[in-house]
Amino acid sequence: MQIYKVGGAVRDRLLGKPVTDIDWVVVGATTEEMLAKGFRPVGADFPVFLHPKSGEEYALARTERKSGRGYGGFTFHASPEVTLEEDLIRRDLTINAMAEDDQQNLTDPYHGQRDLEARLLRHVSPAFAEDPLRVLRVARFAARYSGLGFTVAPETLELMRQLSESGELEALTAERSWKEISRALMEDQPQVFIEVLRECGALKVLMPEVDALFGVPQPEAHHPEIDTGVHTLSVLEQAARHKQPLTVRWACLLHDLGKGLTPEEEWPRHIAHEHKGLKLIKAVNERFKAPKDCQELALLVGEYHTHGHRALELKPSTLLELLQSFDVYRRPHRFEEFIAACEMDARGRKGLEQRSYPQADYLRGAANAARTVAVQPLMEKGFKGPELGEAIKRERLKALKAYKEAASA
Ligand code: ATP
Ligand code: MG
Repeated sequence: MQIYKVGGAVRDRLLGKPVTDIDWVVVGATTEEMLAKGFRPVGADFPVFLHPKSGEEYALARTERKSGRGYGGFTFHASPEVTLEEDLIRRDLTINAMAEDDQQNLTDPYHGQRDLEARLLRHVSPAFAEDPLRVLRVARFAARYSGLGFTVAPETLELMRQLSESGELEALTAERSWKEISRALMEDQPQVFIEVLRECGALKVLMPEVDALFGVPQPEAHHPEIDTGVHTLSVLEQAARHKQPLTVRWACLLHDLGKGLTPEEEWPRHIAHEHKGLKLIKAVNERFKAPKDCQELALLVGEYHTHGHRALELKPSTLLELLQSFDVYRRPHRFEEFIAACEMDARGRKGLEQRSYPQADYLRGAANAARTVAVQPLMEKGFKGPELGEAIKRERLKALKAYKEAASA
């Protein structure tokens, strides 16, 4: 049997990027031989094994054929006769379809190296269209490598467009889609992921609620960039620049969905868009089965981001409601993420990226003020049950009034 490094490890070494996980392909072997060497089989779908020591993935060379809708509709064929070239041709992009032996001899039948130099994300063969997930993968690689100057080859974009129009994207499972979306959002240029999806028509299918934001104007006085879609991309860009976690990036992407529902005659104003957007945020959350912390933060940021921006003008009672809504006493971290999302929203405006955001410290200070209210003395005074709850609230309100006065003095 011959063993080769494939995929990302080869690509990233040639790009001079750090290689984290290595995928291997094994040519000329049978499952029995692999098991005899101590490899552990994984997954029922494909003949993939884990190395007994390194734990890295070794896949038997295979060919694939589409036999139905979606990813389940694949039949594969793995046998010792399948050649390296046959295995490589089923891969998504030419830059991902190179292999390397232990002497670093490159096998590159589909000109991945040429495309690396040309900075092109290009599909390997027309079989690209057999797995709609590849649309998301290409957009994700664009997000990752656009900083290096990579773009999607026009003929690949055209294939992605056809795939998006064919209805095949709807066959993707939530799990497979979310895995790509979440990884893409964590790239350095996550806004490029959305841009590429939009360009090929996939955004309209996957997240019509986000797609609908393009072409929707906002008041120029607050939003010099005007367009809500453009603004959303900038917010995402800021979130990446400020190294925000996935929860915050997800919330940034969805925070303004309500603006897509405003009747045109009300443009450029978007009255109550925060509340109107909630059902859309919920729908997107559920469509991709986003993790609970992402879902929660997206809904909270959607509902309260304007409160965040107006923090310094909020009445103490409104400030208290805000803190209560976030359960800031037990969930301080979630409130920090809310503040971060609001700040990214404010910075995601044309020409205002560097403007300071005093609301952030003000909100932190308010949370601290409310938190200093001690429960024990109130219990000692005899409060219990709902009355205790009311007493705590009264004390917190007092603390917030004092905080606001001190802050404006
Ligand atoms: P990363 O750095 O994100 O791990 P990668 O290229 O290694 O990038 P993997 O998802 O680990 O990506 O997949 C390894 C290789 O398997 C890819 O380089 C590609 O050749 C192939 N591959 C993975 N998923 C697909 C797919 N859906 N369609 C075609 N080829 C795929
Ligand atoms: Mg990999």
